[in-house]
Order: sequence, then structure tokens, then C-alpha cells
Amino acid sequence: MSKKLQAQGTWPPPYIIRRSVKAKNILLNIAPAKGLEIVLPSRVSIAQAKAFLESKREWVEKHYQGSIIEMVTEPAKYPKEIHLPAINKHWGLRYELSNSNMLKLIEAPSQLAIVGKLADFRACVPQLKFFLKKMAHCYLVPKLDDICKETGLKYRSLSWRFQKTLWGSCTIRAELSLNAKMLFLKSHLVEHIMLHELCHSKHMDHSKRFWQLVATYSKNYLTYEEELKEINKLLPEWCILL
Ligand SMILES: [Zn+2]
Repeated sequence: MSKKLQAQGTWPPPYIIRRSVKAKNILLNIAPAKGLEIVLPSRVSIAQAKAFLESKREWVEKHYQGSIIEMVTEPAKYPKEIHLPAINKHWGLRYELSNSNMLKLIEAPSQLAIVGKLADFRACVPQLKFFLKKMAHCYLVPKLDDICKETGLKYRSLSWRFQKTLWGSCTIRAELSLNAKMLFLKSHLVEHIMLHELCHSKHMDHSKRFWQLVATYSKNYLTYEEELKEINKLLPEWCILL
């Protein structure tokens, strides 16, 4: 469970408190785009967390980049739409304030609404992830299965994740893990990622034999690999939070 506290001035910056049963001491994490997180062992109080933060002010101010947080918490930066080229679908996205502490995502055919206490766009991220995974499962699994039929390549299991730097991975046991953010890519790139990962079920490395196998099924694989090089440049700005 996490609790969000919004700062009024420049100190302290916005931060999230996360309880952890594993933590032995209070920890401060500063992660790009996610901002400041205070990890609290279960018996430590919020007041102790605040006192700890005060005691580390110098360290936080040195490492914290307020501009990153402003970028993602500013209301104007809340996305107003979700466009998923991979499955050719588009939704308007609106936000409704309510007193409920539980944020809900309400789906209609071309409109999504996030309803609840909306202090910070980051709070909407779990709902959006859930929605995107569902879309990936409904619309991209058939695409993956078509590629398997065409190539004869197989996978044993599939999980959708939100990797930061990878489009996918595949274990020696053909357990596939694909990045649900591929929904934001054009379909030729989605198919290419799927093919690439399926080929890893035969060759785990990026050896000559691996690329020869990819080339058997795709003429343009080199161009597609180039296109995929910088993951964050291909995605809407807010996806960095996913
Ligand atoms: Zn690879």
C-alpha cells in the first residue's frame, strides 16, 4: 500500500511512502520519472519517515530533479487520449474527480474515464496498465499465434509486462515475456518483436545462426531492428511511467 503526499512548496518534493515488510531501515529512492520514494519498515511511523526525510534534506536536494516530477504531475500533462496503432484503436481519456479513494477505470467503446481522487497522474498508472494488458491479451495474442502458425515456431507460455528497456524476452523453455507497451507501435514492429522473441526459442543468443533464422521469415528485419533501438522515443511521453 502506498500513500501519496503532495508538497506545497519546493521542500519537501512530492514523494510516495511505501511500506515494506522486508525493509530493515528507512530507505530513500529517487528513480527517474517516478520521483522520490520512502520505503518504510512496517513498524516505523509516518512521523518518523518525515523526520528521516528532513534529516536527509541535503542528500535529497542534491539528487532530486524536480523537473522530472513536474513533468508528470502537471495536470496539463495528463494524457487526453490513448492511441494504440498496433491494434488500430483509439480512446479519448477523461478524468472525473470523486471522493472515492479507489481509482476506477470505466471503459466505453471509444472513451475511457478514470474516476476517483486524482491528485497525481501516477496514481492512474495501475489502472492503465491493467487496461493495456487486457488489450494486449485480446488483440495481440491472436497475432502471435498467427506468426507461430506461419513459421512453425512455438512458445510454451506468455506473460505481458512493462519492461523499461526491453521489448521482450524468451527463455530456453520458450517462455515468452512481451512488453505490453508494444501496443503503441505500428503493427509491423509488433510482428517483428514477436518473431525476434520466438526465434530465441531456437537460439538464445544473437549469434549468426539466430539472425539467419530471423532472416528466413523476415526480409526487412535489419530495418525493423534499427527502428526499435530507442524504446522511449517510440512511445508517448507519459509511457515512461508504465
Ligand atoms: Zn534478442
